[in-house]
Amino acid sequence: MNQPTPSNQPPVTSPVWRILLVDDEPTQRLIMARLLKRAGYVVETAGNGIEALAKIDAGDFQLMITDWEMPEMDGIALCSALRASPNRNYIYTILLTARDAIEHVVTGLQAGADDYLTKPVIEPELIARLNTGKRIVTLERSLRSANEENRRLSITDPLTGAYNRRYLMEQLPREIERAARYGRELSVVMCDVDHFKKINDTHGHLVGDEVLKWFVASLQKRVRACDWVARYGGEEFIAVLPETNVSNAGAAAENLRTGIAEAPFVLDQLSLPVTASFGASGWSGDVPAGSLLDALLAKCDAGVYASKAGGRNRVSVETMD
Ligand code: GH3
Ligand code: MG
Ligand code: MG
Ligand code: MG
Repeated sequence: MNQPTPSNQPPVTSPVWRILLVDDEPTQRLIMARLLKRAGYVVETAGNGIEALAKIDAGDFQLMITDWEMPEMDGIALCSALRASPNRNYIYTILLTARDAIEHVVTGLQAGADDYLTKPVIEPELIARLNTGKRIVTLERSLRSANEENRRLSITDPLTGAYNRRYLMEQLPREIERAARYGRELSVVMCDVDHFKKINDTHGHLVGDEVLKWFVASLQKRVRACDWVARYGGEEFIAVLPETNVSNAGAAAENLRTGIAEAPFVLDQLSLPVTASFGASGWSGDVPAGSLLDALLAKCDAGVYASKAGGRNRVSVETMD
């Protein structure tokens, strides 16, 4: 939760193809498992739909072959259950059954199977159809990882790696609403780097950029795991502190302030004292219903303004109630 995690470009597909083989007849399982292992698959087996779902929850399968008729949970119910939870990785599913009427094929595909084969299985046909499954799964996983990466980029400030303003303005109202609904505490700390323009003017914009990165890292390492930091504007940042009342937020802000003021920014030969002015706000108890983002941000702003007016490098607390 703390920050958007940079992707380390995981491989789109695993080189190992894991297949779940679901059939209630042990001999059928044995023959099929042998065939699939010979074709290079890592195979796990289950004796009915319930066992299969448990294995799916525990392991990462890309492919599944399932029988139709099985005790407790049949292949049709298994396909339906699988497709009812679209958030997990897609598992390409082949129904393999003795039922060969066209209405059975239709029922099977409608339940969520990707393909339908009848017993007795013809080995080269099964392997060819599994290859189709591999192509679909490869495509699905690469799209999914591209989507996740795009989502991460769309909510991340590229310079500092903090959440960006878009995420803040999307997520903070949700935090307020959630805290109000469930009777929880919530506070926010806003901060603005002191005399930052002077840093840019004296040392150049690139050094200024490095200072901002360092500043965010300094904030992030001093907040709790459930807190999160966003870039509000140029050299203004916000730390959102769930489950925190305003007086504890004041203390947290003070901890951030001293942490930054006490350790200078260091780059090569340069050692630069950096300070910031803080405005903490939130409620002294649980967030009341109907609380609004604008009011909270206005209070934080007022706090930062008061800290600047008071001489900078300080914390001002503005209570919401
Ligand atoms: P104060 O103590 O009153 O906050 O003074 P300040 O100089 O920090 O405030 P001011 O608003 O005058 O200047 C902020 C500067 O931050 C101006 C702007 O060019 C600079 N800035 C904004 N975004 C970036 C950035 O991404 N990189 C760098 N290097 N500078 C930035
Ligand atoms: Mg059966
Ligand atoms: Mg500013
Ligand atoms: Mg400033």
